[in-house]
Amino acid sequence: MFLAFDAAGQRVPPTKGADGTCPRCLRVVHAKCGKQKIRHWAHEKGMNDCDPWAESETQWHRDWQARAGLEWCEVVMGELREHRADIRRPDDGLVIELQHSYIKHEEVREREAFYGNLWWVFNTEPWRFRAEIAADGRARFRWMSRRRTLDAATRPVYLDLGGPLLRVTGYGPQGCVSGFGELLSRTEFISRVGLRPLSDEELKQTSHYSVLQRDGDILLARSLEDLRTWDSQDAMATHHDLAGRTSVVKIPVIPLGPFERDPAVREH
Ligand SMILES: [Zn+2]
Repeated sequence: MFLAFDAAGQRVPPTKGADGTCPRCLRVVHAKCGKQKIRHWAHEKGMNDCDPWAESETQWHRDWQARAGLEWCEVVMGELREHRADIRRPDDGLVIELQHSYIKHEEVREREAFYGNLWWVFNTEPWRFRAEIAADGRARFRWMSRRRTLDAATRPVYLDLGGPLLRVTGYGPQGCVSGFGELLSRTEFISRVGLRPLSDEELKQTSHYSVLQRDGDILLARSLEDLRTWDSQDAMATHHDLAGRTSVVKIPVIPLGPFERDPAVREH
């Protein structure tokens, strides 16, 4: 939990040594500002978060929440104050559900029923994820995911590729391990939701890398290391920044470590 009431009843982020009040259950919470976990408010020792839908938060959550501003973050919803929406747009009540870890089919359905006007944003970072742009301009994805639950969603699903996002429009024959959709830049997504725009400095950051494959598809990756992992045969890749500017870069060749060499070769 990122926001708790302070003594004056304002919702504030955790600061070292502070105590606050949980905006949902109104119990006391303590600021956790250690090095291991991201800064958060925690309930009393031995108590889990009072919202059963809460997941362990990451820098990824914080970055999106920072873009939404405090007013839009962790909005308690429901007649019985059942749940905290990660981000809720005040004018039309659109909820953005930030999902980093595995979620069950039933919970996908429960959350959609509860929030109604909901968009999912799934972080693809912890998973082997491959995105390509086909010659017809359509984006495709494949991943080795435990998250075979996306296809339970009936509300819009966006996959966060780090830079661009992929709005899923369909799944492959084996469900959500593969699928297709529309690729949109981070700037476009931010403007769709109405979040704080990227600053000039942020726009200089890396969006992604791309490489043209033999079959004419363009492979996208978060890092040059990822391109290598995906067995790209090309020596050069295109670097894209968040403003959409591109430059050509060399894909580094990383020599095999001593344990990866064939022992028979080493003897000579
Ligand atoms: Zn609570």
